[in-house]
This record gives sequence, C-alpha cells and structure tokens, in this order.
Amino acid sequence: MISLEELKNLPSEAESAALSAKNQQELNQIAIRFLGRKSKLTLFLRSLKDLPKEKRVEVGQVANKVRSRISEIFEARGRSLAHSLKPIDITLPGISPRLGHAHLISQAINEISAIFKEIGFKRVRHPEVESDWYAFEALNMPPDHPARDEWETFFMDRPAKGDGDGKRFILTPHATSGTTRALVARKLPLRVINIQKCYRRQSDISHVPMFHQFDGVYADEGVTIRHLKGVLEYFVKSYFGVKREVRLRPFHFRFTEPSFEVDISCGVCGGQGCRLCKEGWVELGGAGMLHPNVLKAAKIDPAKITALAFGWGVERVLLMRSGLEIPDIRILYENDLRFLEQF
Ligand SMILES: [Zn+2]
Repeated sequence: MISLEELKNLPSEAESAALSAKNQQELNQIAIRFLGRKSKLTLFLRSLKDLPKEKRVEVGQVANKVRSRISEIFEARGRSLAHSLKPIDITLPGISPRLGHAHLISQAINEISAIFKEIGFKRVRHPEVESDWYAFEALNMPPDHPARDEWETFFMDRPAKGDGDGKRFILTPHATSGTTRALVARKLPLRVINIQKCYRRQSDISHVPMFHQFDGVYADEGVTIRHLKGVLEYFVKSYFGVKREVRLRPFHFRFTEPSFEVDISCGVCGGQGCRLCKEGWVELGGAGMLHPNVLKAAKIDPAKITALAFGWGVERVLLMRSGLEIPDIRILYENDLRFLEQF
C-alpha cells in the first residue's frame, strides 16, 4: 500500500500522464492506470478497512478528494482532445478583428490641423507643464494682475527654473502660452498653430478640468486685421460650411490690441435669428492683433513686426458644428463606449 504522501502526489502524476495522451484511446488507457481496479488509488481505498475507525474517516476523505481530482483531470483532457480534433473548415469566413477609431476630439484636432495646414500654418506643440512667465507674464499679465483670476490655474509645488522668474510651474491654462514660445523660438515670418491640452480648476456640465484649445499666430512685416479676417473666414467656411459668415465684435484681452470676439452666423436659422442664437450669431472665440508688449517680451520690435492671433476651444467648435446636444460635456472623457462608438 502507498503512503499518504504518495497518494497526495497522484493528481500531479495523473496530470502529466494525461497531457501526454495524443488521443482519447490513449487517454482511456492512462485513466485505467490511475483509476482502474488495479490502480494504486483503488488498492489504497480497499485497504482503508484495515485502519482503525477514527483514522479511516480522515484518510478516506483525503483519498476521495484525490479520486475526484483525478477524474476531473481526465475529463478536462478528454474535452480538450475532442476540441483539437475537430476538423477545420477553411471555407468558413474568418473572425475579423474589431476595429476601433480615433476619439472624436482627436478627429476634430486632425481636421482642424489639416485646414490650417492648407493656408501655411504649421502645427506645433508646447509643454503642458508651463512656467508662469510664458502663461501670463509674457502675455501682458504681470504678477498680481486681476485678469489672471479668469484662468482658474493649477499651480505646482516645484519652482520654475530656467525661464527667469523662479515662480512655481503651472499646468498651462490656455494654449496661448505657446504663442510666446513660438515667437521666442522661431524665425520670422512665423505661421504656427498650437493645439494642446489645457487645465483649469473647473468641472461641471459645461466644463472639464482638462480640455483642448488651438491657438494660432501669424507674425511678419505688414500683417493686419485684414489677414486676421481672411484666416478666420477660411477656417469657418472650411470647417462649418461655405454659407457661414464671420463677424468680429470688439472685446478686451490683455494680450491682444485690438481684440475681438469672433461670431459666426447661426447654422440653424442662417443668421435670421432663432430660439437658439437669438440674433443670428453664435460666439466662436477670441482673436486679435498681438499686443506690442507681447512682441517686446519675445524681443521682437513691434514697430517693424505685427502679428495676428486667435484661440478657441476644440470641444467648443466640435459641439457647435455637429449640433450635438450633450447635456454634460464630461461624457466626452468618461470612456463610455456606448457614447464614443456613435462617432
Ligand atoms: Zn439661429
């Protein structure tokens, strides 16, 4: 009779033996070796009657467990052999992999970049962790200027080094930080579009703490508001449709002078005025001619060089064009496939 130790080893022995079986017939032979009348297990079970009663129950339970484990092993191996022997029908259609697609914001970014590329704007990208100098100070917003309050900024613990101010790093609250970077780093004439993630301390049905903006700048001798209007019209007609009109409405931004809010004619009523737009126009975003102080901060002479600039939210233009009525904008970033697969 085998020892209790040997008994406990039987399932692993049975398992490697079962795996070596190449077909059901071989498997049956092996199963007889482990479970048949002359198997070690059966002999062990038969010998139980010789044990003292209190020991018999305990050892009997172990032996029964071993037997059911071994039976499971042979059944499982039998199933996998049956499966692998199934003939392959090569005429059946294949299982095609499920194709995904770009997120609808990525789709919008690609489309926007492509439109600006046609009129010579090169796409650039800038750091999302930015210094106070690029995000505010170089944009004509000195420290303690109240206009900074409008950007609900995330501040980082690390002090910014290298950009000359020693202030804390921030998560860039607008793509306009890239304007100064572009002005400082590149040779004129400059025509770039920066599309990037921006961060603000805000989260409600119409705001997300991480969103996307695109910010364009064109700097050269003799750039005027006429160029600005031309660029805006080109974009609006390409992206929203040729029938849409552009209107510049005087406004105030710290980093542009003059500054405008850009409106486009309502796509629902065609500019006649409706329940959605009230007077025929819907607001797109900000634009203007860069303030001389911004050019000076980048060591560019505003007497020689002028620059147009504009900056809008990617989420905003996307929702405006699609007419998509999303009750809560945060759904864009919840990765819910039931929503995303619709685009
Ligand atoms: Zn309307």
